[in-house]
Amino acid sequence: MPTVAVVVDTPQHSTVRGPLSYAADEALPAGALVQVPLGRRTVCGIVWPAGAEEEPGVELKPVAGVLRSLPPLPASWCRLVEFAAGYYQRSVGEVAHAALPAELRKLDDAQLAQRLKKLAKLAPAGGPAPQLPELTEEQVRALEALAQGGAPTALLHGSTGSGKTEVYLRAVAQALQAGRQALVLVPEINLTPQLEARFAERFPDRLIVSLHSGLTPAQRLRHWLAAHLGRADIVLGTRMAVFASLPRLGLVVVDEEHDPSYKSQEGARYSARDLAVYRGKLEGATVLLGSATPSLESWYQAQRGRYLKLSMPTRIGGGALPRVRLVDMNHVPKEAAFSHALSPPLMEALQQRLARGEQSLVLLNRRGYAPVLQCLECAWKSGCPHCSAWRVFHRSDRTLRCHHCGYTERVPRACPECGNPDIQPLGRGTERLEEQLAVSLPGARVARIDADTTRLKGTLESQLASVHAGEVDVLVGTQMVAKGHDFRRVTLVAAVNPDAALFSSDFRAGERLFALLMQAAGRAGRDAAQAGRSEMLIQTWHPTHPLYAALRAHDYEAFAAETLGEREMAGLPPHAHLALLRAEARTQEAAQAWLQDAARVADELGAAAAGVTLYPPVPMSIARVANVERAQMLLEAASRPALQRLLSAWLPELHGLRGAHKGLLRWAIDVDPLAI
Ligand code: ADP
Ligand code: ZN
Ligand code: ZN
Repeated sequence: MPTVAVVVDTPQHSTVRGPLSYAADEALPAGALVQVPLGRRTVCGIVWPAGAEEEPGVELKPVAGVLRSLPPLPASWCRLVEFAAGYYQRSVGEVAHAALPAELRKLDDAQLAQRLKKLAKLAPAGGPAPQLPELTEEQVRALEALAQGGAPTALLHGSTGSGKTEVYLRAVAQALQAGRQALVLVPEINLTPQLEARFAERFPDRLIVSLHSGLTPAQRLRHWLAAHLGRADIVLGTRMAVFASLPRLGLVVVDEEHDPSYKSQEGARYSARDLAVYRGKLEGATVLLGSATPSLESWYQAQRGRYLKLSMPTRIGGGALPRVRLVDMNHVPKEAAFSHALSPPLMEALQQRLARGEQSLVLLNRRGYAPVLQCLECAWKSGCPHCSAWRVFHRSDRTLRCHHCGYTERVPRACPECGNPDIQPLGRGTERLEEQLAVSLPGARVARIDADTTRLKGTLESQLASVHAGEVDVLVGTQMVAKGHDFRRVTLVAAVNPDAALFSSDFRAGERLFALLMQAAGRAGRDAAQAGRSEMLIQTWHPTHPLYAALRAHDYEAFAAETLGEREMAGLPPHAHLALLRAEARTQEAAQAWLQDAARVADELGAAAAGVTLYPPVPMSIARVANVERAQMLLEAASRPALQRLLSAWLPELHGLRGAHKGLLRWAIDVDPLAI
């Protein structure tokens, strides 16, 4: 009887790390889906190319069933999964099974055959042949360089509105012409409908499917199958789509490649962008990373010649980028600066737009009415009883909500400590800003877009539609309004209070702020006729900060050079490689004690000699969430392989450390963490 290696879904801390051995009646191809007994259950498994441990003398359990209707997963898919599991230190089974639609695991062969029959009826919508715009010189040059290849990964650095999407569309057309499939990744599910519409219009006779968390399980299965069978030519999706099974993959596009949402924040904390680059090499597919403000990691690779650098500095239609004006809050009358957040220059700029019938976008990256309520008599503030954080005041439903654990209560009528009825909001979120704008600009149509106003399905689309239709004069919002939207009537973008990120302990905060402001600026003046009048206003207490100087000049390269210099001095990415070990326990001491113990094991494994530095355990910046204390320990190495080697030796040992630490609840490793 042939022996097959089968990967089953195993939890992170399970002792089963690799494939298990089973007996089969016949040789089964790698990548085939099977049902196998595991303990008292029967579970779905994947026949793995190699690696089952032979245990002589042990009688193997037989494979219980085979999904014969399903073509096996490609060998390259198995290698991608294996790489991701190894690199991010999770089990192969966990990564493999998370990458498959959950529905697939529930079906037997007969049911699957039914689904496949239905899938055969899936037709593309069809439509008129698309009108292709004549490419700009920059677009032509970028596409020519891409076609010539040289490097498998290209970084398209293009200003907002330079026509990057058109480059993606043409690159996809080329891949399709060559008989290959294209995978297009976007950071946010909200951006997929827009992109889908553009692709559907361009490729009316091709099957386009999407993969993101907003699909029903049945939809996800259908779309996944269409990709896996090679019927879908184009797959659009969020980070999870990087694991789509694509037998003819020829191109991967990663739009807004700098966006933090490409990094998963739970389970296997993978970076879809980094996996896309790896996958491209593995499958001989071109990888096209695009951004107006590339991540410093990608920029560094392009500077070193590892990635092909494509530049499109010019906006389509000759529109200029908006003029950036800094409002020095030190010179604004105190009353206006502190109580209103709306400086006289900003009010004047808003009124001008109103008078001209143009739109304004006011950015404040904090939702709710006020980040905290306070009592003016005693020291009471609206802390969360379960977290080391304030609860945010939401005026619309008069609640105090914790944005970390979700704990929500009605706003008390009086101070819970001293009974004083005069409790006041401190600081300002989008809700309060919206209210202030409505009061200060009588007659203006003020609207707000943030996670609170768009909770219901379809609300974001309808709100955006009303902005596009010109039914809104002033749009207030969080970063959600800065991303991707092709607003045509916006001539003013204002950032009300962006300074906090300048002094954050998070080393990437500056990079993120710069990207956000550049992207927000890109929403203004997209219509060339208005470009000359368009401007961005930044209210700041630190007008001489170099980040703002680079922003005024729209000079990403200057910002990148300065920041890369700082990172090199500080030993931070991309000049160093990091991993974070996190622990959660009932007490901070218990969390840190486990990390100390883990550090001891790393020492014994020769971390220092291998060039891996371990920093002392510290509480996380929000130490307590939902009554759980959280601590972390940073690992840093100049060499990525050295860090990887240590992690591979270290992690298996950590699974065994648990017993001695009763207070420990959970631990996890984050390789290439976004924030430390
Ligand atoms: P980006 O993705 O770089 O921000 P877009 O691809 O959204 O820019 O392009 C901005 C606008 O210019 C869009 O409305 C798009 O349809 C248009 N556009 C892109 N390329 C061309 C072209 N070659 N000729 C005319 N219009 C174009
Ligand atoms: Zn009080
Ligand atoms: Zn809380």
